[in-house]
Amino acid sequence: MKKILQDYTKEELGEMIKPSFRAKQIYDWTYHKYASTFEEMKNLPKAMRTDLDSEFTLRPLKTIQVQDSMDGSRKYLFELHDGHTVEAVLLLMREAQYHEDGTLKHHRRYTVCISSQVGCKVGCAFCLTAKGGFMRNLTAGEIVSQLLMIKADNDIDANRRVNIVYMGMGEPLDNLDNVAKAIKIFADPEGMAISPNRQTVSTSGLSSKIERLGKMGLGINLAISLHAVDDELRQQLMPINKAYNIESIITAVKNFPVNDRKRVMFEYLVIKDVNDDISAAKKLLKLLNGIKAKVNLIYFNPYGGTEFKRPEEKDMLRFQEYLTQRGLLCTIRESKGLDISAACGQLREQERSKNENIQG
Ligand code: SAH
Ligand code: SF4
Repeated sequence: MKKILQDYTKEELGEMIKPSFRAKQIYDWTYHKYASTFEEMKNLPKAMRTDLDSEFTLRPLKTIQVQDSMDGSRKYLFELHDGHTVEAVLLLMREAQYHEDGTLKHHRRYTVCISSQVGCKVGCAFCLTAKGGFMRNLTAGEIVSQLLMIKADNDIDANRRVNIVYMGMGEPLDNLDNVAKAIKIFADPEGMAISPNRQTVSTSGLSSKIERLGKMGLGINLAISLHAVDDELRQQLMPINKAYNIESIITAVKNFPVNDRKRVMFEYLVIKDVNDDISAAKKLLKLLNGIKAKVNLIYFNPYGGTEFKRPEEKDMLRFQEYLTQRGLLCTIRESKGLDISAACGQLREQERSKNENIQG
């Protein structure tokens, strides 16, 4: 099997390919010009292009489905070399803005949500990714390639700023080594140049790994999928809470190095009649006291076969208002791409059940 070119840092490629300045050129073709074959890399000697082609692939992912949402978001289903599939989503955060004279004021602003594993071991009760079980970790190159494919497919200029959130399928901290490597490859100034402060790792709360990530000193942003404020309920929703309870997460967050201008994001998936009451908001406020935090409320996005329900808008607003009036920054996540089944895992699951129906 061919190696995945995106699995390697520029320094590693420089060790493998001599003379080492070739690594820089290959990085340029790969991450700036979106070359999909070595043949395109015209400033490399012909023999080298042939050798590279027999050793490496530049396209470890195959796009098998693209779904457009009304709000401009676009969801991708990618197939890996072993037939497994993962999702990634291009989120249009803001349309381009123009001055009165028609000149450009702001470019479009994008965030890309990418996957770190095929499936997930954590097994949260509300999450569709969990239903398919865990298959395997993604390699750094498979993580990096999701964004690369999306940028190439949408003609997003190499130097256009894009934010990355590790909020697709999988638990990034359960695949920390490969995720950390992807973070560094994304950040290479001669590659995509996406600084770690534009990248956010979202975790279900593996406290010991949060500590490890912090010690790595990457400068990455942290998001915690909290979803509940007492251990009993959290354990029901997220079995991982037995191993890492709320207190351990809060301690890990307090030790995490946060960029001066940033906050730790606490994601709170709101489920009707489960965690949408004001007493939960009260406890949340207390829990986050002393932490540079912001809260992101997420509407539970229902899917076939789930017992959970989407919360009422008035309850979301009441929850938010309770927190903001007491000085805690709290946003409600716009249901980006809701019509294309926003929460990751849902497109893949549709595809799987379609296939099962065909086979059955
Ligand atoms: N495993 C990591 C990152 C991937 S999950 C984590 O849990 O943080 C990314 C987000 O998708 C989580 O915040 C999760 O709560 C959310 N999510 C899962 N199922 C959802 C659903 N049905 N509706 C809305 N959000 C969902
Ligand atoms: Fe895994 Fe995150 Fe889904 Fe929980 S919410 S099962 S941690 S992907």
